[in-house]
Amino acid sequence: MKAVLPGSTIGVLGSGQLGRMFALSARRMGYRVHTYSPDSDTPTGQIADVEIDAPYEDLDRVRDFASAVDVVTFEFENVPATTAETAAQHALVRPAGDVLHITQHRLREKTFLRRHGFPVTKFEPIRTPDDIRAAMPGFGPAILKTAGFGYDGKGQYRVNSPGDAEAAWGAMDRQEAVLEALVDFEAELSVVGVRSHTGDCVFYAPSANAHVNGILDVSTAPASLAHRDAIEITRGLLEQLNVTGVLCVEFFLTRAGNLLVNELAPRPHNSGHLTIDSCITSQFEQQLRAVCGLPLGSTQMLRPAAMANLLGDIWCKGEPNWTSTLAQPEVKLHLYGKIEPRRGRKMGHLTATAATPTEAEQIVRAARSAL
Ligand code: AMP
Repeated sequence: MKAVLPGSTIGVLGSGQLGRMFALSARRMGYRVHTYSPDSDTPTGQIADVEIDAPYEDLDRVRDFASAVDVVTFEFENVPATTAETAAQHALVRPAGDVLHITQHRLREKTFLRRHGFPVTKFEPIRTPDDIRAAMPGFGPAILKTAGFGYDGKGQYRVNSPGDAEAAWGAMDRQEAVLEALVDFEAELSVVGVRSHTGDCVFYAPSANAHVNGILDVSTAPASLAHRDAIEITRGLLEQLNVTGVLCVEFFLTRAGNLLVNELAPRPHNSGHLTIDSCITSQFEQQLRAVCGLPLGSTQMLRPAAMANLLGDIWCKGEPNWTSTLAQPEVKLHLYGKIEPRRGRKMGHLTATAATPTEAEQIVRAARSAL
């Protein structure tokens, strides 16, 4: 394949913060960026050369979008399969639509993981409340999750006994779901891996991730509890899925010391945002390099780092105190250009680098508290 060189145009399906940070990397390297989503004045659109505001289902607009760019990638994995297929008739789409198809649906994703021998939490497909009642005796405490379109802990319901079946099913809007055993984990880890079109793979140091209410709160890298298999499992998944691009694998590290794959994201991930300020090549630049058929960059970490998300909740008492946070010289502020700070909405993040991961985490938490 001929490389898509600087000066070319990249199409991004989706228009959130992941596309924004991708577009910033792409523009720095002299690329043009077109973004497509059903919104305007978006985090990506504010940085892109062209922002298309149209429904994903408008296949004529999708055709025009794909025809005007040299390669299409995505920053949002819930793009409908037909949208990716239509784009692929007019441009190279990376990663390919079938990667999107598997990873945008929990049941397909978990079935894929189990079929290919990757370690995964015990689960059962659920299509009726009776399925929950029938499965529960083999489970103990469990979590019911929507099969499709769930993210950041949305569409999840704790199930303790068969008596919770109706309420849990109602919480899923009576849609197909997955019942998953509750994991008693020691830590949550993630690995961001990148694969080029020629099959070269590179990996970032694993991050340790702390969640609050199912939403990522703080990531720290390199993770002190990192398990040596995490990178090999990520490599296996990049190869099995034949990814050209970035793949983030989220893991539970159980108290018994085993890794279980929780989720896959075939794109840069929130836990990899700290690579912007701490690594030679960020996860966004790697996405660009991989989808353009360029050699991958070094993932080497220059300094341990920690990232703290800034949710809309921080704005509830008015504009945050940016000056006091920025008075900490190791702290970098990233804001996504979102106008409305709703509760639970990811508005930005802070990254701190320091001599050790623990110190970086202390600094970034203190910096966020100073807001
Ligand atoms: P998810 O959207 O599936 O990644 O879930 C969001 C967060 O909820 C995870 O990062 C965990 O902190 C928690 N969680 C999800 N599934 C489980 C599980 N099976 N056992 C324990 N905690 C879970």
